[in-house]
Amino acid sequence: MKEQTRIIHSIPTDPLTGAISVPIYQTSTFVQEAPGVHQGFDYSRTNNPTRKALEDLIATLEGGNFGFAFASGLAAIDAVIRSTVQAGDEIIAIDDIYGGAFRLFSQVYTRFGIKIRYVDTQDLKVFEQSLSASTKLVWIESPTNPTLKISDIAAIAGIAHRKGALLGVDNTFATPASQNPLALGADIVIHSATKYLGGHSDLIAGLAVAKSTELGEKIKFIQNASGGILSPFDSWLVIRGIETLDLRMRKHSENALAVANFLSKHPKVKQVFYPGLSNHRNHEVALKQQKLFGGIVSFSLLSDTIESATQVVTGTSLFKLAESLGGVKSLCCHPATMTHKSIPSEMRHQSGISDSLIRLSVGLEDADDLIQDLENAFSKI
Ligand SMILES: *Cc1c(COP(=O)(O)O)cnc(C)c1O
Repeated sequence: MKEQTRIIHSIPTDPLTGAISVPIYQTSTFVQEAPGVHQGFDYSRTNNPTRKALEDLIATLEGGNFGFAFASGLAAIDAVIRSTVQAGDEIIAIDDIYGGAFRLFSQVYTRFGIKIRYVDTQDLKVFEQSLSASTKLVWIESPTNPTLKISDIAAIAGIAHRKGALLGVDNTFATPASQNPLALGADIVIHSATKYLGGHSDLIAGLAVAKSTELGEKIKFIQNASGGILSPFDSWLVIRGIETLDLRMRKHSENALAVANFLSKHPKVKQVFYPGLSNHRNHEVALKQQKLFGGIVSFSLLSDTIESATQVVTGTSLFKLAESLGGVKSLCCHPATMTHKSIPSEMRHQSGISDSLIRLSVGLEDADDLIQDLENAFSKI
């Protein structure tokens, strides 16, 4: 059976009624025959049939043993971190990390005695040298947000494991339609399902998948102990989004490549960041580990100022100015003043987020219209 068929048919039909869509079990509790005698469900924080359908689905998609659904991507990251490290341990995280994860790591975990070091994991030598005896977890994104850095997941998994550390990968940008970090050697995958998996800009959700039973049991324990679970209705929405994930990701990638090629030739553009371009620093690694290059394109302007970037992001009409990404409608965003403003400017510049950097979430419109929209915005600067 081919991948897409397998995905669609790993969404269960309802054995009770034959409903083709997974029912929304909007219930807090389940009636028991005798104390502890039930049909596998006793309380919806612990387990819920709609959420379970989503959790089984993401585990299948990512090739893991256990899937978990949380109320947001950050709640998923939080549960994974608390399942894998404790006071005195160190996390090595990619320097171009999602702004919200940076805030959580730097302002919350450090208060609990966890050390964090940020490293450019594109450079395997630098990465290997950064690991110490107390490194218990390596945390990367590939591609990253917003500069589309690509790290060699298989190589990083090998190095991390030799030093006794686990590897967690935030696979939000690539999605399982393009990349399976567990098959490349990672131990844990997380998603902000708010983005491509939900796919319609209508919910906040997070998913985690563990490869081993041991890790799966630890995450299950934290999920139930701290309770940051996804609701039955939102679980159902994410399932519905995943039904068309493969189709959407192909079109997002096709449109994004057209936009990236247009930007590459534009006289007002300084640099384009897209792993599908042959001049991307790690294009070869992307080719090796991704089936598709995804829908996010970032670029900087020759006039490298916050003012010029502001003129572009307020000059488009199809690309809506908004945080987030991965929906049907195209979005644009200015990381330095929006998604990444909680990162100190020096560190921001170091990780490649210049003042004029603009991030596009290329949607499912016609590519020609999107290119014309950008051309109109450029003509204003
Ligand atoms: C949005 C995002 C998150 C956080 O997800 P939420 O659902 O907003 O909590 C984490 N990682 C990446 C790469 C993201 O883009």
